[in-house]
Amino acid sequence: MPVLRNIGVLARCLPTGPQDLIHEVRNGALAWEGEAIRWVGPEAELPGPYREWPAEDAGGRMVIPGLVDCHTHLCFGGWRAEEFVQRLQGASYLEIAAAGGGIASTVAKTRAASREQLLARCRGHLAGMARLGVTTVEAKSGYGLTLEHELRLLRLYRELGEGSQRIVPTLLAAHVVPAEYRERRDDYVTLVIDEIIPAVSSEGLARFCDAFVEESAFTVEEARRILSAGARHGLRPKLHADQLSGCGGAELAGELGAVSADHLEHVSTDGIGALAVGGVVAVSLPFASLYLGAPPMPARPLIDFGVPVAVATDFNPGSAPSYHLPFAMTLACTMQRMTPGEALKGATIIAAKAVGLENEIGALEPGRSADFAVIDAESVEQWVYHLTANACVRTVARGHEIWRAP
Ligand SMILES: [Zn+2]
Repeated sequence: MPVLRNIGVLARCLPTGPQDLIHEVRNGALAWEGEAIRWVGPEAELPGPYREWPAEDAGGRMVIPGLVDCHTHLCFGGWRAEEFVQRLQGASYLEIAAAGGGIASTVAKTRAASREQLLARCRGHLAGMARLGVTTVEAKSGYGLTLEHELRLLRLYRELGEGSQRIVPTLLAAHVVPAEYRERRDDYVTLVIDEIIPAVSSEGLARFCDAFVEESAFTVEEARRILSAGARHGLRPKLHADQLSGCGGAELAGELGAVSADHLEHVSTDGIGALAVGGVVAVSLPFASLYLGAPPMPARPLIDFGVPVAVATDFNPGSAPSYHLPFAMTLACTMQRMTPGEALKGATIIAAKAVGLENEIGALEPGRSADFAVIDAESVEQWVYHLTANACVRTVARGHEIWRAP
């Protein structure tokens, strides 16, 4: 039951108010007991009992809620650096996919990797994320694409989630039609609906069902069938929508009341309206825009329409091979014209909403999980603007320290 004192800026990021209102407290203190926050506020107002608790000194640094990376493809075999070079030389994402590269090549490497190899890689990535202040990671399957291999990835996530860092598992069997089904794609949709979704649901292996709606992946109608089947099995819908072309993904997300619609680089005005009406979180993935040289998500009109915009990495070996969420926040500002405060809320409380945990994590207030990061910066603006390799000096998840700078 420690109290962290001498906090220069405490950014509480409460769910109320506009997206750029981060509810700052100057000269703050934060008390937690076990896994839960007990008290947050100005140190001068620290109630009597907490003054007796063991004190720790934040050194005047900033404290933020633990970052929530609400969109990653955490578990995959191999890398695709060669495609990075091909794209620099002019090949498009869709051309590379059509030539057998892209997601299909990662599926082959992931299926071939052993359980131990995949676990070790994921643990390495998660430790790297912890050093950056990330306490919750949404993790998608989607590099298995058979019943056996999708279950294997989701069971790995269950094992990885036994530590203090939270893993939120999402079934993404509808990532791409696997090569062996290319001539009979309807059979694959049937496999997802009749076998994979029921098996994942009965084992309690995922919270969400995601689908990639794109010319190279699934049509709106196929995604509607898959996501509706997922919902019937208790898996809330999420979508990869309107990334490479505007194809009605946002409209479908609104229609289904999806928890989030992710990417949205080519979202239409009608799509923005559908997200607002459906209460859907828009998840921006600026690394994908950066690496693919594609236009960024139009965050300003989304926010102006009242759609909350989360910021995530999309960590994957193709279009977003970095898990540096603070860098993604900086890109959300420079490429999407979000303010640093909007980017911080986008990577905390709004990202928490995008994974259905907005009442447990993502903000600093009593009763929530003791997930926070100590950032060596004097303000959110200074942190996001200066962007050092890593300004995070300490990360606490569920009340346990998971990173401290040497
Ligand atoms: Zn993705």
